[in-house]
Amino acid sequence: MLNLNKYDVVVIGSGPGGFTAAVRAAQIGAKVAIIEKSFIGGTCLNCGCIPTKFLWKALKIKQEIQRSYEYGFSAILDPVIFENIINKKNKNISIIRKGMESILSSYNIVFFYGVASFKDKNTLLILNSENGKTEIYADKIIIASGTEPSTVGNFVFDGVRVINSTDALNLKKIPKNMLIVGGGAIGIEMATIFSGFGCQITLVERANSLLSSEDHEVSEEISKNLSRHGVKIITSCTNAIYDIDRYEKILVVTGRSPSSIFLNLENAGINTVRGNGFIETNEFCQTKINNIYSVGDIAGKNLLAYTAQNEGVAAAENAINGNNISVNNCAVPQVVFSMPPSASVKILNFIESKNIIFGKFPFTANGRALIENERMGFVKCAVDVLTRKPLAFWIVGAHSDEVVNAAAQILKSGMKCLSRETIFHPSFSESLLNAYEDAFGKCTEAVKKNKAKKI
Ligand SMILES: Cc1cc2nc3c(=O)[nH]c(=O)nc-3n(C[C@H](O)[C@H](O)[C@H](O)COP(=O)(O)OP(=O)(O)OC[C@H]3O[C@@H](n4cnc5c(N)ncnc54)[C@H](O)[C@@H]3O)c2cc1C
Repeated sequence: MLNLNKYDVVVIGSGPGGFTAAVRAAQIGAKVAIIEKSFIGGTCLNCGCIPTKFLWKALKIKQEIQRSYEYGFSAILDPVIFENIINKKNKNISIIRKGMESILSSYNIVFFYGVASFKDKNTLLILNSENGKTEIYADKIIIASGTEPSTVGNFVFDGVRVINSTDALNLKKIPKNMLIVGGGAIGIEMATIFSGFGCQITLVERANSLLSSEDHEVSEEISKNLSRHGVKIITSCTNAIYDIDRYEKILVVTGRSPSSIFLNLENAGINTVRGNGFIETNEFCQTKINNIYSVGDIAGKNLLAYTAQNEGVAAAENAINGNNISVNNCAVPQVVFSMPPSASVKILNFIESKNIIFGKFPFTANGRALIENERMGFVKCAVDVLTRKPLAFWIVGAHSDEVVNAAAQILKSGMKCLSRETIFHPSFSESLLNAYEDAFGKCTEAVKKNKAKKI
């Protein structure tokens, strides 16, 4: 007898990891279901990548209007009604949600709304307030349940005064002042957006610099730009923060914790890494249990949407066709939407390379940057002296979020050098080549240095 609740592949979570895995599994011909306890699209669409970049863009437009006199215009900006911007952001999210729903239905993927948990390694229970409990069976299961905001110290989220990133992205009004706890990518993006719209921000970070795992020149440039916009930055902040009562809002963005509490992983025999809730997987995205795979944030590798998507494709293919695709995360670009944005990409373990030389090129010397009135920042490049291969790029400046994609392709393809004829002029990307050439004292677009870095 046909069992309607039996699937080839069931995916838990509809963020970038789960959605991509479900669609790819269906493309291969599997009968697929996806379970989601909240909105389709996960963190990325609803409270992560898309809303932050939308608000960043709104701020950019505001600044462009304010700076339009530099091009000879005389535009006057009316007071900003932040709620209108939030409404437009929400409209855009709905458009993308609808698009995702039609993709799922075009592939006949069954969507279950509810909280998934394991009964055993092939059976899932779905709990939802309308239908109660539904039980479904799956040959293969892909867990893509993502992460949730986590807090630190004595801060307890109340959604009103002590808030997380999701709350912040739905504020209807710009607060007078805000303490942001956490100077990583999310903290920096929030400080950029809210200070840009007139909120007095104090940004505190436990490490001795913002974005502490990044190159020190990048971190210094970001701090400089935030300070120019009035953000008060306190690093090496290990003590309790005094005058806490004076802040209208306290935004805690110190990290994310795995969404695994509802899953009852123990019923399926799945390990988490050192018991911390992140699911342990091998290079094929497979857990210790053969028929169960896990991708994206919950698998704890990079906590980025495109890593989740990459793993989603691999897990779907591996689950259905056998373990053929391994994920190596060799040259993953990282971007922070500061103002201007900053980005970096490195080949794995580049720091272990013994003979590194560095080149640097400022955007003050880039023609396109002058045209766009975006002359802040630089490109920095690390090169292996022996092989002449670029090993890493750091870019602070306008469009670095796009330029870094070209840099990643260059690193990933192992190109010995960049070639001038493949880079459009005038463009920001040209500075990748300029920085690379500078490492050898061969940049033709900068004044001669006293000490050319010869090999
Ligand atoms: C403020 C912010 C900004 C960000 N900006 C960027 C960016 O610019 N670029 C970038 O690449 N990344 C960014 N990220 C990170 C990015 O959002 C995540 O890496 C990405 O969403 C991870 O995808 P995922 O599929 O693993 O999980 P998620 O997107 O978190 O999706 C998991 C889904 O699973 C559902 N779920 C969980 N448990 C269950 C259950 N038991 N049953 C049913 N459903 C369940 C959740 O409701 C959720 O919808 C940002 C994150 C934040 C917080």
